[in-house]
Amino acid sequence: MNLGAVADRLGISAERMERMVGRMVRASDWPPPRHLRFDKAVAGVEAGTVVFDEDEIVYGYPKIRRAMMLAPALRSHFSGGVLVEEKMNGHNVRVARVMGRTVALTRGGFICPYSTEVARDQIPAQIFTDHPDLVLCGEMVGPKNPYVPKDVYPADSMDFYLFDTSRKGRRDLNGSLSTHALADEYGIRSVQLFGEFGLEEASEEIKKIVRDLGGRGREGVIIKDPANLKSPIKYTSSESNCRDLEYAFRYYNDYGQDFFFSRVVREGFQATEWSEGEGEFLERCLRLGRSMLAPMRKTVEAKIAGEAIVQEVEIMVRDLQTAKDFEEHFRRMGVRAIFDPPRPCPGGHLVKIKRLVLSTNDKTESIVEGQLW
Ligand code: ATP
Ligand code: MG
Repeated sequence: MNLGAVADRLGISAERMERMVGRMVRASDWPPPRHLRFDKAVAGVEAGTVVFDEDEIVYGYPKIRRAMMLAPALRSHFSGGVLVEEKMNGHNVRVARVMGRTVALTRGGFICPYSTEVARDQIPAQIFTDHPDLVLCGEMVGPKNPYVPKDVYPADSMDFYLFDTSRKGRRDLNGSLSTHALADEYGIRSVQLFGEFGLEEASEEIKKIVRDLGGRGREGVIIKDPANLKSPIKYTSSESNCRDLEYAFRYYNDYGQDFFFSRVVREGFQATEWSEGEGEFLERCLRLGRSMLAPMRKTVEAKIAGEAIVQEVEIMVRDLQTAKDFEEHFRRMGVRAIFDPPRPCPGGHLVKIKRLVLSTNDKTESIVEGQLW
């Protein structure tokens, strides 16, 4: 790779680039093709950016900010109507063909072997033959998603849903409308587009959509500018919020405290803005409280019974090599996990993965033995 040419494309000096490699910028040749990954945002290049060579740069997917109070946030952020799309709950991937291979990059800029297998299965190769510079941005969702397992989507394994597109070497995204047109043209699954709403009606309409999504176990919405001139905003359901808490509190000492705090604060703003009646408010209180205490009680009970607390997930691979590569990928990401031997299933193999949550285990064990906080 010609570092000087790469630095030039990224808009940084060659000396600065040299200095960054090995520090915030990591070189990797596994899985192939060889690439550089920006672990952190540096010199105006977003985290998760991956460089294969000067002509094959996939920029990091931009951060999407959250509306806390929907109506005022919409008024202050957008000037005309808005598009409302479902926010699907899985992990973000950018899929591109680089150095002749299709790869799926995670948000952090790792080539995920499992997501790559799914992308190659589900995205027609023709799209990259027709558009060699295309970057498909989408969400991988389903019960066999090892990062965010969810069984509220149609898939029983893991599916790719397109929500935006970009180009190699470009930071800008093409936006919702052209993305849905492309998805239709190539028969690629895409996130649901609920419609376009005027600014006056949008917050009421979104409230209805988000309540309905929440009731069905789904996460929420992303609100986008039809002309793609403003950055998108996210807004999520209380049920999804509480399910996150329920999951995280089982492993309470392995999550950052901000994870919990930010979710409680969201409930406070939503409860106020939606000015619910007393009955509904109490329901929210119960949902929120229970989502924190029930999983914690389970964890403590398990420890009292002498059991280990593990996070169990399962993947479904078509090729056994993908399972081996995924194990190596977890190891490189610093995830401690035990992989069970693969079991055959229709269309491939199932592999159970137990992730160790050491901090929660140790902390809980010592407390049930009488340690002070
Ligand atoms: P961020 O840094 O963008 O806030 P995060 O890791 O905290 O990201 P989320 O809270 O899940 O993630 O919100 C943003 C993510 O939502 C996007 O990165 C994308 O993966 C996902 N997403 C799901 N559906 C859509 C959609 N329709 N449009 C855009 N993004 C979507
Ligand atoms: Mg998400």
